[in-house]
Amino acid sequence: AIRCEGLCQDLGGQRVLQGIDLAVAKGEVVSVLGPSGSGKSTLLRCLNWLAPPTAGRVWLGNEEVGVKPDRHGRQRPLADAAVRAQRSRIGMVFQSFNLWPHMTALENVMEGLLSVKRLARAEAHERAAAALREVGLGHKLDSHPARLSGGQQQRVAIARTIAMQPEVILFDEPTSALDPELVGEVLGVMRELALRHTTMIVVTHEIAFADGVCDRVVFMDQGRIVEQGPPAQVLRAPQQERTQRFLGRFA
Ligand code: ATP
Ligand code: MG
Repeated sequence: AIRCEGLCQDLGGQRVLQGIDLAVAKGEVVSVLGPSGSGKSTLLRCLNWLAPPTAGRVWLGNEEVGVKPDRHGRQRPLADAAVRAQRSRIGMVFQSFNLWPHMTALENVMEGLLSVKRLARAEAHERAAAALREVGLGHKLDSHPARLSGGQQQRVAIARTIAMQPEVILFDEPTSALDPELVGEVLGVMRELALRHTTMIVVTHEIAFADGVCDRVVFMDQGRIVEQGPPAQVLRAPQQERTQRFLGRFA
């Protein structure tokens, strides 16, 4: 489970997150929709402390992210190593897959298991191969990214994330960089993760995925959550004019 309270972020002299409260329960799948520039990516980057927020707090389970009270009860920034340890419990999948070009699919997935999780090679190998089989790439373990399609590369990136066994996975438009015919295979893998009750926050423009797979839809505009609820409610009977206008583009 992950939650935030009063999350604000100032970038370039602008308040791009204006006080976000969001709680995602264990096993819950939440999609975040909203126009370009509404703060979706910034929200994910604050949740995993890639960009510490200007104000507000984040909890991963019962543990506060990024800060710790000192002996006077004042909040102090956590040491970098402690933040990295927390971040390793939050998976992130980006639009650009960010695979190492000189490593095979298997080596890409093993990397974090060796360097962050400090697993023995044999165990990392086994876990990485299992993760790649889960995303349907058991036959591509030894392929380099350049020899894989965009959809396959993104599935390697997802395998790399699930192999780390994070408590929550944040997806930032995972299919936006793909050719249309490759989108389905990636969404299929994400649907499988959702069916297995992986805790997920998915920023996406795939309305059908939000509708068919997610437990809850959150609509953001101008750094605020404008509306949220079950997909049927937000997508088919939006209450707010801004949500209606946004969804009208997909009708
Ligand atoms: P998109 O759908 O295009 O990905 P988004 O909802 O993810 O948009 P963000 O990337 O979170 O939006 O950006 C929110 C706002 O913050 C935008 O106005 C953007 O221009 C601004 N912004 C983002 N990063 C920076 C930065 N490093 N410096 C200054 N402004 C930034
Ligand atoms: Mg974005």
